[in-house]
Amino acid sequence: MAKVRLNFIEGKWVGPAGKKYFEDRNPAYWKELLGSFPESGPEDVEKAVSAAEKAYESWRLLPPPKRGEIILKAGLLLQDQKEELARLMTREMGKVLKEARGDVQEAIDMAFYTAGEGRRLFGKTTTSELKNKFAMSVRMPVGVCGLITPWNFPVAIPSWKIFPALICGNTLIFKPAEDTPACGAKFVEILQEAGLPAGVLNLIHGGADAGQALVNHPRIRLISFTGSCEAGRMIAAQTGRALKRCSLEMGGKNAQIVMADADLDLAIEGAVWGAFGTTGQRCTAASRIYIERKIFETFRRAVVERARKIKVGNGFKSGIEMGPVINETQLKRVDSYVRSGIEEGARLECGGRILKGAAFKNGFFYAPTVFTRVSPKMKIIREEIFGPVTCLIPVKSLEEAIREVNRSAYGLSSSIYSRDVNRAMRAIRDIEAGITYINGPTIGAEVHLPFGGVKNTGNGHREAGETALDIFSEWKSVFIDYSGKLQKAQIDVDGMK
Ligand code: NAD
Repeated sequence: MAKVRLNFIEGKWVGPAGKKYFEDRNPAYWKELLGSFPESGPEDVEKAVSAAEKAYESWRLLPPPKRGEIILKAGLLLQDQKEELARLMTREMGKVLKEARGDVQEAIDMAFYTAGEGRRLFGKTTTSELKNKFAMSVRMPVGVCGLITPWNFPVAIPSWKIFPALICGNTLIFKPAEDTPACGAKFVEILQEAGLPAGVLNLIHGGADAGQALVNHPRIRLISFTGSCEAGRMIAAQTGRALKRCSLEMGGKNAQIVMADADLDLAIEGAVWGAFGTTGQRCTAASRIYIERKIFETFRRAVVERARKIKVGNGFKSGIEMGPVINETQLKRVDSYVRSGIEEGARLECGGRILKGAAFKNGFFYAPTVFTRVSPKMKIIREEIFGPVTCLIPVKSLEEAIREVNRSAYGLSSSIYSRDVNRAMRAIRDIEAGITYINGPTIGAEVHLPFGGVKNTGNGHREAGETALDIFSEWKSVFIDYSGKLQKAQIDVDGMK
């Protein structure tokens, strides 16, 4: 009998007010139940907000280097428990074990990076237009923050939000995705073990209803959301009406460009990893690949051959390169996109089917899928599929490739393979995206650089790096007048007197 799990509020594990629970199952073997988790609602969120408010006064006054020490300890604990956590992740959401280890590693990197920020959190000192006056800017915490995360990076993404939010002095209510509550809970346990005081980080389980309870709570001052564009749009409208701070990281329809002068083997390897890594369930997955016409046929043949050979199965088994899709709804969604591609006249080169048979029984597996003859109007080229499906499109020039890349409503990641530095520089300048890789796939972010996208991918914020601090802190400008008299800015303009 799998365990009944609880929310974590004010340092205690507590059941939901509504006494309802949902099941957490393994997408590679649906019969395996990992646990039952609370379906939380407004009453639970209210308790968590009260706890976070109570903890806020002392947490915001704790010197940031001390906050950093707790985060550092959490990073060390994550390092100790990396294997355990990676294994839990593979069971809970299916990514292959090697990739699950990478997910945890990203959280470790984030902890180490953010811990050092405790001794920086730089503001600026600057001049004053008046004599005997000093000016500077300092960061202040925002207050109680609500953090809502998806299932595809169940440890890394929470770490991108939780660590920067904590170092800035905020107290938090974290709601992990309903498909990965166990990873979310384990992450919270690690922070508790690292010495985080009660009430600083509270955990609320549940789905969209629990998320909505956070978004609509009047005393939560900031919502940081990563997930679908659909939900993000709704949250933007709600937080906009309430004049609440809101940062959104949403979908992508990422593109790789391959020029004829590229190292072709490298570009093929990058395309296959970009399209099918994490079963294509990455916000940065390469779902459009624009290839210079001269090399299109060679490239197409190689990618299709590689895609056909990808070993799909349970991410624990050695040799498996691609795990399951997260759940049955998503499996059907991927398949319906593939059907729409066929109906709209695209050519299915390989895959295009739900995998059946003994090896895939009780799991949600989809064959790596490649389309060609895709036109810009088709749904498969416009909408985010979030599965192992990619499209290969011939182009005659770099200009055409960039034009097609920029046609997307999204703008998260992009990549170009070329040995010509002039072309690479033009791509960096002209592609409308938050990330551009040169001679690398569309996936591979590092935690010390800003992460996020333009257009429908986000609302202007960047997670990770130093820019994450701008999400989780408010700027205050400070003026210190040591002249001993009333000095009027813009009025006492003659600095010589
Ligand atoms: P989702 O929007 O369904 O859910 C994300 C989270 O939001 C979950 O915790 C969910 O319970 C909650 N939620 C859903 N509807 C809500 C609502 N109306 N109000 C409040 N909370 C709500 O997305 P998903 O299927 O979990 O994740 C996949 C999506 O996330 C893809 O679109 C992917 O591109 C995107 N993503 C983006 C990034 C990025 O940094 N840009 C990173 C990873 C994933």
